[in-house]
Amino acid sequence: MEKIRNFCIIAHIDHGKSTLADRFLEITGTVKKREMRKQMLDTMQLEQERGITIKLQPVRMDYQGYVLNLIDTPGHVDFTFEISRSLAACEGAILVVDATQGIEAQTLANLYLALEQDLEIIPVINKIDLPAADPEKIKREIENLGISSQEILQVSAKEGTGVEKILQRIIEKVPSPQQMGLMKKCQNENANLAKALVFDSHFDSYRGVIAFVRVVFGTITKGQKALFLSNKKEIEILDCGFFKPKLVSSGQINTGEVGFVVTGSKNAREVRAGDTLISSLDKLSQKTNEIKMLPGFKMPSAMVFAGFFPEDADDFNTLKDALEKLSLEDAALVFEAETSTALGNGFRCGFLGLLHLEIIQERLEREFNLNITTTSPSVPYKIIKKNGLEIDLSSPVDFPSPAEIAEIKEPWVSVEILSPAHFTGVVMDLITKRRGIFKNMQHPSEDRSIISAHMPLANVITDFHDNLKSITSGFASMSFEILDFKAEDLIKLDILLAEKIAHPFSQIVHRSEAQVIGSRICKTLKETLPKKQFVIKIQAAISGRIIARETLSAMRKDVTAKLYGGDVTRKNKLLKKQKKGKKKMMAMGTGQVEIPKNVFLKILKKDH
Ligand code: GDP
Ligand code: MG
Repeated sequence: MEKIRNFCIIAHIDHGKSTLADRFLEITGTVKKREMRKQMLDTMQLEQERGITIKLQPVRMDYQGYVLNLIDTPGHVDFTFEISRSLAACEGAILVVDATQGIEAQTLANLYLALEQDLEIIPVINKIDLPAADPEKIKREIENLGISSQEILQVSAKEGTGVEKILQRIIEKVPSPQQMGLMKKCQNENANLAKALVFDSHFDSYRGVIAFVRVVFGTITKGQKALFLSNKKEIEILDCGFFKPKLVSSGQINTGEVGFVVTGSKNAREVRAGDTLISSLDKLSQKTNEIKMLPGFKMPSAMVFAGFFPEDADDFNTLKDALEKLSLEDAALVFEAETSTALGNGFRCGFLGLLHLEIIQERLEREFNLNITTTSPSVPYKIIKKNGLEIDLSSPVDFPSPAEIAEIKEPWVSVEILSPAHFTGVVMDLITKRRGIFKNMQHPSEDRSIISAHMPLANVITDFHDNLKSITSGFASMSFEILDFKAEDLIKLDILLAEKIAHPFSQIVHRSEAQVIGSRICKTLKETLPKKQFVIKIQAAISGRIIARETLSAMRKDVTAKLYGGDVTRKNKLLKKQKKGKKKMMAMGTGQVEIPKNVFLKILKKDH
């Protein structure tokens, strides 16, 4: 066990974690050269195409008599939960910083997470091969975080320069499992008992749920009975082994090691990350209730909700099955059936953030061949009624009558923004415009600032990040963390089409922003909705009082007008296409107004 090192790689997105992992796989001979491809550990098709890591990925490498268990992590803020789980299974973390970019918001957020868990940090400056690299400056930035500059390694993950040194450093610096981490922190009540932390799970359609575990005490053995402590669900360990990075059976996973367990469970909800798996039950002399869980982690709750509606009503059941399948591997995805007069039957889905939403939508469209309309994302609200009842609201459609409401609370976040110092003024402006409250400012180096603020989540999830990027010419980065729910002057803003409330467009907004948002939505709808043979009134209203209006003038769109000559087949084809296109749009209210699919995303965009 003294020859085991468990570590993960953390960094801001694109600083080179997955590329560095590739080099480790090559140097240690874990993956043969001919099997090697770029960002090897990004196994999902979507990850490869987008070049981002979505799921954590463990791999076991043998190197100079040591067992190195590496976990590659995602960098995007929506997937912080993946990172904290990876960290829980490790004693060390490689902190990668891009030599051309320096410290970014996610570098800090992830470093804090690692320090909270007392991990040994190995700082690495990557991409020193690039002409724009300025390792000396980046060194100073890292030093300012309290890390000694003598320890900072300089590498090029792409070319392999200096990478082997990192492995040496890991062997020297990262403590073995018995020196630090979970084993030190927890005690085993029963020496015969094996205890493992479940840090992730994967649903395999043939083998059921596969749990990713870090064994803290004892040995997990194939064929034994085992039990999940949180729900007392008993399983038989059908198989177990290591990530190479493919699953390779070993029959046993020993103290301090990271591996997988085939649980045979067909329900991913029974196997939760953060749970404790105990095994060797036959030797157990005490009641399972007396056995303590390993310190786990709480599942983050969904912070962005949106409606998913199949464009073709016949696809409802396919969508239901698809969501069920996806939620089997992604416990953070929640959903319940929702019916809308305008959009038909669909689901209200909850996500960790907008990227999470986008990825789920894309997977539904690709993997399940579905065509989906997504309504405007909303944060969850808490409403305290005058009769004392508190309700959780994830859809503006369920908004109670204002007369019944005593208080409405919305989620607030603490935001950290890293920006070149000369943009500080415009960044502060943007924060204030989005109802944010400035808290603090630091300077990691002479020309960079870290701005901390508190902001309503609703104003962070929309296009705050896009605007931040555009006002700082792409140089600022941000991270945020949920603080709590705060009572604010919030109201429901309705949109009326042809004088009828179009429910899917209703939003909960701050009173001070209602006018601006209402006008913007009306204007966007005027530009987006297809014109009809008659005039359509577009209005925004608060409790029936109109606060903004636009008019969509009448016009018949003649798609065949542009065609020259008498090519009848082509004309017919075009008409057919138009008919099909029409079917994809949705009838609204009295069946007069058709809503194009992308309109909900368009109305989200704010100007800064
Ligand atoms: P991750 O998001 O941290 O996993 O980053 P990736 O490993 O996916 O790398 C992001 C991009 O940086 C990719 O285009 C890599 O090819 C590139 N990259 C990574 N390491 C280096 C390096 O050392 N030098 C250069 N020039 N590019 C690199
Ligand atoms: Mg990656």
